[in-house]
Amino acid sequence: MEKERICLSNELKGIKIRDFEELRSRILSIYKSKIALPKSVKKKGLVKYLTKVRQIHDFLMNEFYRHIQMLPKFNELHPFYQELIRMSCADERYDDILGKVLGFRKVLLKLTREYSERIRLSFDVPEARKLTREYIGRVLSIFRRLRKDLRCLSSIVVELRKLPCISVIEPIIVVAGMPQVGKSTFVSRVSTAKPEISPFPFTTKEIIVGHFEVNFKRIQIIDTPGILDRPLHELNQIEKRALAAIKCLTNCLIFLIDPYEGSYYSLESQLNLLKNIMVSFKDLRNKIIVAINKIDLVNEERLNYVKAKVKELFNGDIYLMSALKGIGVKEVINAALKLLGYS
Ligand code: GDP
Repeated sequence: MEKERICLSNELKGIKIRDFEELRSRILSIYKSKIALPKSVKKKGLVKYLTKVRQIHDFLMNEFYRHIQMLPKFNELHPFYQELIRMSCADERYDDILGKVLGFRKVLLKLTREYSERIRLSFDVPEARKLTREYIGRVLSIFRRLRKDLRCLSSIVVELRKLPCISVIEPIIVVAGMPQVGKSTFVSRVSTAKPEISPFPFTTKEIIVGHFEVNFKRIQIIDTPGILDRPLHELNQIEKRALAAIKCLTNCLIFLIDPYEGSYYSLESQLNLLKNIMVSFKDLRNKIIVAINKIDLVNEERLNYVKAKVKELFNGDIYLMSALKGIGVKEVINAALKLLGYS
């Protein structure tokens, strides 16, 4: 069952997945640390090594595995997060890896029991030391085998933690269009997000999420530079997956067009992108809004020409605005809210 995760990146904040090297150095430092025992303790040499074995076991179960157990199960995740996880470790399934790592807890428990018993019965201190080292060697050989899996889980946590807080239960408006058409300007004008607005193409790289409230309900508005601002055939495998993930989330898409003749991208390439997005976001057929931005830069004749060109391939309403000057912005947002079912 998919859980209603409010913000996965926040949930993952407290989770640390140690890789093999970190585990080894932590286990060795436990082995080397001094243990002070009360004077009354008999057979101090043996007890010292028994304590080290117990401390290593406790560290693995109470720290290392506690964090592994906090990881979400794949089938409890929204398709958006599932798609992102598939992007992190290409060749193996996340759930299989998680199952494999968790499965070794039983082996570790057995090892700890076996070696504790053998140390207790050991002949002298050198034998106890030898057995403790053997125990550590066997524990480390387990984690050496899991080296790749731990690296994968750790990279998933690191990647997903970088995501802005995207809620899968609140409506999402995605803003698309070629670079430099004014997406960040628009998102920052209508929401709480304050994305960096760059004067050059290709400089904004991260997904930017803004919020605003309507009737006490939060709406998310997302700018996705680098993914929805290039023709689909130019996207690499990872970007295609990112696009698939974004598609899972979108409830409404606002496509911006720069009508200015001297714009960074020709009107033709902008319309090609619109066509691509309409094909790719088929399920959103009636949830796409086209807004011609930067109307402060063009005269009426040019505007009518651009409008007519858009109409040739898009039969919904076309809005005119200037995100920079704040003209027509409210109308575009109201149209989006109407499509989301708010009027
Ligand atoms: P993005 O790449 O699509 O996110 O575009 P940005 O929001 O970074 O805007 C690119 C450039 O266009 C910036 O210099 C903005 O100030 C400018 N810009 C955005 N909207 C408007 C507008 O409505 N009118 C004018 N004149 N410039 C705009």
